[in-house]
Amino acid sequence: MMNNKYKILLVEDDANISNLIAAMLEATGYQVLLAESCSMAKLLYSSYLPDLIILDLGLPDKDGMELLHFVRKSALTPVIVLSARTKEEDKVAALDSGANDYVTKPFGSAELLARVRTALRNHRFSSEEGRLPGGRFTLRDLEIHYEARQVFIQGQEIRLTQTEYNIVAFLSENAGKMMTYSAIIKAIWGSGAYDGSIKKLQVNMANIRKKFGAKPGEENYITNELGVGYRMNG
Ligand code: CA
Repeated sequence: MMNNKYKILLVEDDANISNLIAAMLEATGYQVLLAESCSMAKLLYSSYLPDLIILDLGLPDKDGMELLHFVRKSALTPVIVLSARTKEEDKVAALDSGANDYVTKPFGSAELLARVRTALRNHRFSSEEGRLPGGRFTLRDLEIHYEARQVFIQGQEIRLTQTEYNIVAFLSENAGKMMTYSAIIKAIWGSGAYDGSIKKLQVNMANIRKKFGAKPGEENYITNELGVGYRMNG
């Protein structure tokens, strides 16, 4: 029974927060390993190889980013950053260093659990099944056929331009992960002039959302975090 449980490494020095999260995760059926410092987290990570890491950035010994770099040297273990730092630059830095997602304190339990589920599911999908060229991506009634480069909603083909398709495909290949503007721009246009590309990206995203039938201010398949990036939900 224990062996079937996902192991989650929770790195958090605030006992009130860690107790709350640990209780919530355990009630949901996860096994929790708790570290109160960066050095302890490294030790637990290396000994137990957890399935997911929830990472506070403000730790007593080192910055939590150090653990993120340490893990990313050798593994794609999903990392959800949980931080009181709300500046866009901090989020972008964590995401561009390989964090899968970023949750800002204070947070809702339901929201954090949803992000954990998404990160675990997408990681399992990408590591076990791979993304074959002829593969398909499904998110509720949205379907992408990679080989034919076609996108369908409720079985109806959505006509996208080449660029729009490339953006949608890239986000779907990283579903559940918040992709920063610069990561998307690099993938779609190469590392060109970044400033002009943000505008181009925003125009393309607006068109994609319109074609996907999103109403202004409403999220359907793709979430936009202003100043940070986009995430294909899932
Ligand atoms: Ca802290």
